[in-house]
Amino acid sequence: MLTNWQELRERILMRLSALGFWVSQAEPQFPHPRDFVGVHESGHAMERLTTYLGSGYPLTSYMGFSFCRFGCLASPEMGSSDLTDGIWVWPEGLSHYLKAHNVVLPGKFIQHAKGNFWTIPEIAEGLSNDYDFSFWLSLRHNA
Ligand SMILES: [Zn+2]
Repeated sequence: MLTNWQELRERILMRLSALGFWVSQAEPQFPHPRDFVGVHESGHAMERLTTYLGSGYPLTSYMGFSFCRFGCLASPEMGSSDLTDGIWVWPEGLSHYLKAHNVVLPGKFIQHAKGNFWTIPEIAEGLSNDYDFSFWLSLRHNA
């Protein structure tokens, strides 16, 4: 039931903030995950974050699986979709980089997931599918 149509409409029109899209031949403008390697706050914090990432709503599916930029063998874990929580959008394989390569995501996103109590909001489904890469691209040289 829509109790606040105006708010819902604004969210539909809002663009999703993209993160975790890595450099490839087709998209050389994106950062390399090696620039994001760091130390997680704790194993528990990383686990909550990877669970959050894994439970986003599938948005776009691509032909075939993504590949690991660190050269791991192709695996279904890398995924073939983008996932969203209604505010952010990321590739399905992003959690692999956290678990296997100690990639640390921007604090802005971690705070957001924490603010959702590490649970994807129900309202996230079916909202915007327009990507905004400006925040993600701004991290390219100073990550
Ligand atoms: Zn890998």
